[in-house]
Amino acid sequence: MSSKVLEVRDLRVYYHTPRGAVKAVNGVSFSVAPAERFGLVGESGSGKSTIALALMRLIKPPGRIESGEAYLDGVNLLTVPDEEMRKIRLAKIALITQGAMNSLNPVLRVRTQIQDALEDHDIHLPPRELNDRIREFLERVGLDAKVADMYPHELSGGMKQRACIAIAISLQPKVIIADEPTSALDVVVQRQVIETLKDVQQQLGASIILIGHDMGLMAQVVQRLGVMYAGDLVEIAEVEAIFAEPLHPYTQLLIASLPSLDRKGTLRGIPGLPPSLLDRPTGCPFRTRCPKAFDRCEVEEPELREVRPNRWVACHLYA
Ligand code: SF4
Repeated sequence: MSSKVLEVRDLRVYYHTPRGAVKAVNGVSFSVAPAERFGLVGESGSGKSTIALALMRLIKPPGRIESGEAYLDGVNLLTVPDEEMRKIRLAKIALITQGAMNSLNPVLRVRTQIQDALEDHDIHLPPRELNDRIREFLERVGLDAKVADMYPHELSGGMKQRACIAIAISLQPKVIIADEPTSALDVVVQRQVIETLKDVQQQLGASIILIGHDMGLMAQVVQRLGVMYAGDLVEIAEVEAIFAEPLHPYTQLLIASLPSLDRKGTLRGIPGLPPSLLDRPTGCPFRTRCPKAFDRCEVEEPELREVRPNRWVACHLYA
């Protein structure tokens, strides 16, 4: 079995505006192993959701995938014809977003929406088999089979998000991208939905890319984590290693900003703002906020390198 189900190389996505190109994703490379839970974490605007949309080929103008490769099962998602990509979506790679629950069609019962997803991929089942299949999907996400006959307005937010997960897994994709899937839910429901996602992922043997800004949630869910800053991946490592010893100064500050019992509720932010993606400064994009910046950081952009086994960091401190 291949050790990578998804391999992304040097992905660049720019938004072309009258003022110039906004470099939302600026040459990002990472891979995901079969059945792995991989996290992408960063502040809003760091490019993580743009990566999700690029992998689904859902970038809309003025956005454009400028270059790169994204191999899923040997197929480059960035270059397959549109019709083939339509079939790959859901069948091999599915996306669940924060707003997914609002994308349910309000005038169709849940059953019809799952059936439509199957039929859109040429899966036409006899009524009894279809019923069994829909019941199985709903039960897998912790919903009662009778939810099939309900309309979205009859469901709570958590139930709607579970129904979206049921649709996302209806074709048993190899990769599920979950982009802030629980942000619109209250904390208790968030936890339940995340547990559901984990259960489903384990049952299907699918890989998950969990996208978010919450380091605490990442620590509970993912096995490996990529930290994004201003369109770049600045650190990739196993989640325990990142929490035990963050190497990139940005990751260090992210972890230091987490509330802890010892710090008695003091919440430390990271001073300063990310750079403009329209006019990226020379050198390291983090240098204006980095407490460890030195001369080289002003002139040379650091590359993501493996500085220790399985630890990738983009920082001159480790050159
Ligand atoms: Fe800080 Fe320099 Fe490392 Fe950038 S390269 S994170 S500015 S030390």
